[in-house]
Amino acid sequence: MIVRLRTKLALLYGGLFGLVMIAIAFGVYPIVSTSAFNAARGQLEATSNAFQRLEALQMSQLRDNTRISATDFGFRSAVALAKADPATVRTALANLRRRIGGDIAYLVLPDGEVVAETNAPSLPPGLPDSLTDGDVTQGGLVLGQIAYRAVAAPVMAPNLIGWLLVGTRFDDAQMKSLVSLSSIPIHAQLLERRDNELIHLSHSSEAGSDPQQARPAIVETRAIAGINGADLQLRLSYPLETALAPMRSLLGLLLGMGLLGLAVLGLAAWLLARSITRPIAALESATRSIEDGKYDRVQVASRDEIGRLANSFNLMAGAIEERTRTITYQAMHDRETGLPNRECFEEALQRAVTATGHIYVGVIGMDRFTHIRDAIGYERTGRLLAALGERLAAPDAVAPPARLSGELLVVAFAARSGAEAELRLAEMLDATEQPIKIGGQRIDVAAKAGFARLSEPGANGQSAVERASIALDQARRAHTRVSAFNAEAYGDPAGNLSLMGDMLNALASGDMFLAHQPKLNLRTGKFDGTEALIRWRHPQRGMIRPDLFVTMAEETGHIRPLTEWVLAQAIKDQETLAAAGLALRVSVNISGRLLGDPSFEQVIDRLAEGRTEALCFEITETAVMNDPQRAMKQLGKLAERGFPLSIDDYGSGLSSLSYLKMIPARELKIDRSLVAGLEADTRDAFLLRSTIDLGHGLGMKVVAEGIEDERTLAVLQGLGCDLAQGYLISRPVPLPDLIRFLKADADIVSRRVRASA
Ligand code: C2E
Ligand code: MG
Ligand code: MG
Repeated sequence: MIVRLRTKLALLYGGLFGLVMIAIAFGVYPIVSTSAFNAARGQLEATSNAFQRLEALQMSQLRDNTRISATDFGFRSAVALAKADPATVRTALANLRRRIGGDIAYLVLPDGEVVAETNAPSLPPGLPDSLTDGDVTQGGLVLGQIAYRAVAAPVMAPNLIGWLLVGTRFDDAQMKSLVSLSSIPIHAQLLERRDNELIHLSHSSEAGSDPQQARPAIVETRAIAGINGADLQLRLSYPLETALAPMRSLLGLLLGMGLLGLAVLGLAAWLLARSITRPIAALESATRSIEDGKYDRVQVASRDEIGRLANSFNLMAGAIEERTRTITYQAMHDRETGLPNRECFEEALQRAVTATGHIYVGVIGMDRFTHIRDAIGYERTGRLLAALGERLAAPDAVAPPARLSGELLVVAFAARSGAEAELRLAEMLDATEQPIKIGGQRIDVAAKAGFARLSEPGANGQSAVERASIALDQARRAHTRVSAFNAEAYGDPAGNLSLMGDMLNALASGDMFLAHQPKLNLRTGKFDGTEALIRWRHPQRGMIRPDLFVTMAEETGHIRPLTEWVLAQAIKDQETLAAAGLALRVSVNISGRLLGDPSFEQVIDRLAEGRTEALCFEITETAVMNDPQRAMKQLGKLAERGFPLSIDDYGSGLSSLSYLKMIPARELKIDRSLVAGLEADTRDAFLLRSTIDLGHGLGMKVVAEGIEDERTLAVLQGLGCDLAQGYLISRPVPLPDLIRFLKADADIVSRRVRASA
């Protein structure tokens, strides 16, 4: 396949010219060859005519000579005595023949007898019959293989006494001399037709046979009448090869000129094609450069279409370059603030290097962003962010400050340690928090920051920007100003996406079990009950904290099956305890989401009906706050049916006295955040005393959870707390361990508790 336009054009022109040449050749050849042929034929005819005239002249000479000799007196006298004296006749014949210049001479007598010279070939037998009395007989005569021009003249004395027959040879030499008279190179042949067969008699070539017989030729044949009816032919032939030789050289000249023309045209076509394709090739390579982002201009001097195309191309390349620059700028910058965007920042980070320490990425987020935006509008917020971005710019920054999204700005800098990075970010926050005026309006900005190291081992596929953003969320949750990324606290959210499916399987497969934490009655020193706490040993991830999957089950609507399983298991465990002689009440945590859920009511009906002595339901106070009416209705129903209720985690959130009053609970559990590290005669102790009194005042028993040391326990006992739960007494343990503990160690524990009181 030809792919180059230049070659195609050159081939096209050359091919067309070649075709024209062939067409001309087809037209010219027949004309030239026909005219050459006709000219040759004309020449041959002319030569043939000349031959004929020459032949006629020679014959007439022979005839005249023969006729004169026949009237010779001496000869006639010899003929009269021929019968008696043939020898004299023979002598006379020889003399006559020599005089005339003939080759043969005979005397034919009227009775047919022939007198000839010695050694003369004999005449054909029927010859005398063809001789006429009155006049001369003339024509060709073949004797043996030799042809003669012969004349027979009657010998009269005064009556016919015989015929004198004289002949001259018609041999090769004759032929040659004939041919030599011709202006064209012809070949002459004398033939005789005998019994439909042509016998070769003589010819003009030296060799005995005709060397040109096989070659094609133009032929002219003349009949020569034989003296005794013999059919003789003089054939003149002009070989075509020779005849057409002038035409050949003409054609050769034409062919040569054609080939030369073809070569010249091919070269010219190639040059022309090159002059056309060179600018096209330049355009093509410029187009390729555009692909690589290079906008080269094409230099074309011509003013023709190609020149105009090149000009248009250059204009187009310029426009594309301009547009690309704009698009690239837009792709790399934030429209609202004009700050570099995330892509731009990440790109700069990839190129970033530092000589000292590490590169840190910090994400800075304004507090109350939506509030500010609603107050000043989007346009001014954009200007505000741009101004903050300017404040964050530092000469030693490894990437320009950029806008991530919303209120988030991102910076990158080098620091020797995490502590130095934290300090640096704190300074940046100080800078951003300086009062700022936008559109004549003063705005107070507060911000927080999270940061992460660019290349941190175990980053779990998250980019530094992502980790720094998470760190900012962690800072916001922990109410700290600057936070480093804490991988442990972040956990594995990606893995958690499939956690609920795993959880439902675990409920069936036995990977879930209940741990029990006993509640110690501080007044009696006996164990009143246990709290059932769910445990999940994940086959791949190991133990999973209940906070994580319980919260997720609440959010994804899987809390009902989970609670159903816990309730059923708690009832079983309670029965096992009772069977072991330990009739303890088992507390089950009930999520606030289930309060008011009719399907949960059915679960209670089915599983817990009549087990009011065995069970207690722990409900957090906040659970009630979400939908107080529904929750209160449900709690009222449970209380009416005789189930004890317990208010869990009291004091961890925003406690409301009005709810506390309304919840028909028998137990109030003080959250471990209030209990931990309790000292006597402190504000905490005072607060706890009032809470305990409040609980008692509302008719509830008060439980303190999370007791880890004896001093706390003692203080709580002193404050009048009824029940205690915590690692000090027992960690949550599987049921068999609980039974073992209650049977063996419980006494020691309760004795110790009483002693500490
Ligand atoms: P909670 O109901 O307040 O349970 C007490 C939590 O405090 C338990 O954590 C327990 O192990 C822990 N704890 C007990 N004594 C001490 C101590 O002395 N020091 C410290 N630091 N911690 C102590 P756990 O088992 O991790 O459970 C966490 C929360 O998960 C529970 O808080 C409860 O809200 C929820 N939860 C646990 N099991 C269930 C369940 O079956 N259903 C529902 N809805 N929630 C459950
Ligand atoms: Mg609880
Ligand atoms: Mg609690």
